[in-house]
Amino acid sequence: MIAAVHALLGATLARLCDTRTQAALIGGASHALADMLPHRDLDLPEEGFLLAGALTLICTIKGADSREFAGALGAVLPDLENLVGRVRGVPDEKLLLPTHRHLHGPKTRNYLPQLALAGLGLVILFLPDAGREDYPRRGTSSR
Ligand SMILES: [Zn+2]
Repeated sequence: MIAAVHALLGATLARLCDTRTQAALIGGASHALADMLPHRDLDLPEEGFLLAGALTLICTIKGADSREFAGALGAVLPDLENLVGRVRGVPDEKLLLPTHRHLHGPKTRNYLPQLALAGLGLVILFLPDAGREDYPRRGTSSR
């Protein structure tokens, strides 16, 4: 799965959490599930560029101390293994995480499902957070 999509998925799911620790853990769990879906991976330069953009966006919108950013980091962290593996030329079957080896989803040529997932994550990130103090309440006024 494209790392930026992992980040957006983790940030989206983090909105269900009360703490950054929960958010990071659910992000990590989402990584495993997303890696099992059919997907297409990118080359390292494209992965790095898109990931930097996604993390910068999440950090700008929600803040570096937000649940969303913690969820994004938790979701991306497992792919450090892929990064090290690619840089050092380690074959997929020698990687440690099961979803990077035998439980990895089939490789496809289609980016559309990942783009749809990323787009949905972006929309949800921009929605107001109903559980937070800054959420506008019906019938209340700031006057
Ligand atoms: Zn992965």
